[in-house]
Amino acid sequence: MPLVEKLRTSFGQEPFKVAVLVELHTTEGVVGWGEVSAEINPGYSTETIGTALHVLSEFLIPKVLGKTVNSPTEIPPMLKGSRGHPMAKHALEAAVWDAVAKTNNLSLADLFAAHLPPGNTPTGYATVGVSIGIQPTVEETLDIIKMRLNQGYERIKLKIQPGWDVELARGVRKALPDIVMMLDANSAYTLEDAELLKQLDEFNLLMIEQPLGHDDIWEHSKLQPQLESRICLDESVKDANDLRLALELGSCKILNLKPARVSGYTQSLETYKVCVENNLPLWIGGLLETGVGRSANLAFASLPGVNLPSDISATDRYYNPDITEPPFVLGEKSRIAVPTVPGIGVDVQMDRVAQAEARFRENYPYKFPSVGDLHAIS
Ligand code: MG
Repeated sequence: MPLVEKLRTSFGQEPFKVAVLVELHTTEGVVGWGEVSAEINPGYSTETIGTALHVLSEFLIPKVLGKTVNSPTEIPPMLKGSRGHPMAKHALEAAVWDAVAKTNNLSLADLFAAHLPPGNTPTGYATVGVSIGIQPTVEETLDIIKMRLNQGYERIKLKIQPGWDVELARGVRKALPDIVMMLDANSAYTLEDAELLKQLDEFNLLMIEQPLGHDDIWEHSKLQPQLESRICLDESVKDANDLRLALELGSCKILNLKPARVSGYTQSLETYKVCVENNLPLWIGGLLETGVGRSANLAFASLPGVNLPSDISATDRYYNPDITEPPFVLGEKSRIAVPTVPGIGVDVQMDRVAQAEARFRENYPYKFPSVGDLHAIS
């Protein structure tokens, strides 16, 4: 799908959005949807669209097809025989969450809350911010920031990389002294850059996201005490135990939780509980999901323990049109209302999915081999 605004990060820029959708049919005729938000290249994640198609169709889907499931939390144990591939697992589990919610006439937010201790009643909305990719100049960045502020976004996240950090932050702070600003490095720095990262302390940042290695927790524990800015971990927290380790070492003071990164909403709920128990500020990250993945993340972001603005912008910031209806619209106080209808709360537009699939096959005309093909070769 063409992106309204491309997102350039420290590891590159995707030409357009790709996704794998999981469409699950129950014997009662209920349809659940999930999304793999991997990319063409293994950039943010080790997974790609190709690995997701392969692993889902050859290994994961066969493990749940035809099985009776009463709760989506039964899915992770069923997939245990296949290691890794959290985004593919997340998509399959998400389709089950949607189907179970619809079967029980519950919104997804209420179904999530049903798996948490009392007192975790969904708020009905998610407070959100917007993420702005790496631009050619500070002036162009300021133009985009001002446009987003005018649209009503109250938290601005800027992607940084070596050479595009201190001067960017200084320029933006000088022009806009009062905005809520944070920076996301997507692992572009090393511990040797500590002196440089300390210079960012003077810009009153809400946080610095994942400055060091994408799989590192230890080095972040060495960096955090040197900074006044709070470190937020993203890439390197892959489950609740990673977060427990990060807390014990003092590696971060905030968590960006991406349900796809931690292999699904079951593990997301476990991670959420660790945040609440430790008073750790939490928000939900985005992977430029289509309406399928975004609606479910929005529901999760309406849980009360998610207490910082999430990276879930309105539909018009990503796609025109999206593959789901109705679109998500930014409301007052930088909030997006969460649908109250059962399941993910949006309808998938099959004609738009077909168009997107045709575009994909035109641009990426390769065939992903099946295990059957590979056996035939050997
Ligand atoms: Mg990030």
